[in-house]
Amino acid sequence: MPKTIIISNRLPIKVQRTEEGLAYETSEGGLATGLGSIYKQGHNVWIGWPGTYFEDEAEEKQVHDDLSKQSMLPVFLTESEIRDYYEGFSNETLWPTFHYFSQYAVYEDAYWQAYQTVNQKFCDAVMEAAEPGDTIWIHDYQLLLLPELLREELPKSSIGFFQHIPFPSFEVFRLLPWREQILRGMLGADLIGFHTYDDARHFLSSVSRIVGLNTAQGLIDNGYRHIMVDAFPMGIDYDKYAALADSPETKAKIEEYRAALPDQKIVLSIDRLDYSKGIPQRLQAYELFLKEHPEFLGKVTLSMLVVPSRDQVEKYRQLKETIDELVGRINSSFRTITWNPIQYFYRSFPIEELSALYCVADIALVTPMRDGMNLVCKEFIASKLDHKGVLILSEMAGASRELADAILINPNDLGQIVRSLHEALTMPEEEQMLRMEHMQDLVRRYNIHHWVEIFMNRLEYIKVKQMSMA
Ligand code: UDP
Repeated sequence: MPKTIIISNRLPIKVQRTEEGLAYETSEGGLATGLGSIYKQGHNVWIGWPGTYFEDEAEEKQVHDDLSKQSMLPVFLTESEIRDYYEGFSNETLWPTFHYFSQYAVYEDAYWQAYQTVNQKFCDAVMEAAEPGDTIWIHDYQLLLLPELLREELPKSSIGFFQHIPFPSFEVFRLLPWREQILRGMLGADLIGFHTYDDARHFLSSVSRIVGLNTAQGLIDNGYRHIMVDAFPMGIDYDKYAALADSPETKAKIEEYRAALPDQKIVLSIDRLDYSKGIPQRLQAYELFLKEHPEFLGKVTLSMLVVPSRDQVEKYRQLKETIDELVGRINSSFRTITWNPIQYFYRSFPIEELSALYCVADIALVTPMRDGMNLVCKEFIASKLDHKGVLILSEMAGASRELADAILINPNDLGQIVRSLHEALTMPEEEQMLRMEHMQDLVRRYNIHHWVEIFMNRLEYIKVKQMSMA
């Protein structure tokens, strides 16, 4: 009986050592929820790194056995592999390049070597589980070489690949020394998905100019197979966020926040610490807003959550310092004895508190320089049970292609962000509700389950089409 194999860098689980031994906490991320309906069925399996190093082979064996009972297969990586393949090539080479921050990209041969070794390690792990006829779905930029490695082993399998981050224009992608090997790696798939049509178009253009293959109407002819390239904008688990917003825990938190910030308009900002998120520019725009609109002093609070991320990487450490300085400067210039312009948190929040923040926020200020999709803005929309609130969203986020009822801004245009903040703070409730309801219809319909379904259907479709074109 053919099965489906999901592969991503990380498994949807956190393994922790406790006094009683190893403990497993399943991830609540959107991808895990969406794919949960698949990998837990029958003999299907999810393959990935369990997120920790283990002491010895006996411990690894225990993790392997424990996880296999939960339909997961671990790929064990060493500390140096994580450093060079994950922190190195994935996060210091591919991440900046794909987010149009090429000036931050590190071109280091040792990273590339480790990236190839680890992709091969993932291939070996898949081969332990795979049989001819299985359907394979590979996720994201850490595993760009895996489709081709698997194609060599399993020439007839259905292989899908989805990239969760942007694909840059040819002029940026071509800067990578390993550009051709990367594209050839991806072309092992039958279906290659991105969040937006622009990403798909950029990928096709790189394939035609670097690999020299024919690309027409989203199909690539490599001489053996037709490979389909398309946009699949990822959604969220809408019902989960709507239900959370209605839960007693969230309601209690909402009361608490409202009591702590009486008569305040709340502007919410939530991101992982990352230079792609445009956090310093957002702070500068807010500072400009306070200068240009003194009538709002004492009446608006920016609630800014920055979730720690990749703090081993120098660029991220520098960014943290820049943000700390800006927040300090703005708060010390504008604060009064009874008011703080920015509430700044550098930590992650439990989901009930995030939900309460989405609910109490009047405005979500989402201004990345570049973002594959951005799920925070969709979670804000799903949490707005009273249909009020305004989303200010960067044109550079994949989500902006769907959310035309947001106030769309260019994150480099500080003046435009200032005007948008003013517009959002003074927007009549009827207009807020009209825009919010449109966005809710869309985010509810194109949810994470719909995304999984259409990707899998399209993969099945291209396999059938390949046979008719052969
Ligand atoms: N998030 C979280 N803990 C927090 C703040 C945010 O788990 O304290 C979640 C948030 O709910 C969202 C995700 O982190 O689902 C961020 O996803 P997004 O696509 O916006 O950005 P990414 O971090 O993937 O670049």
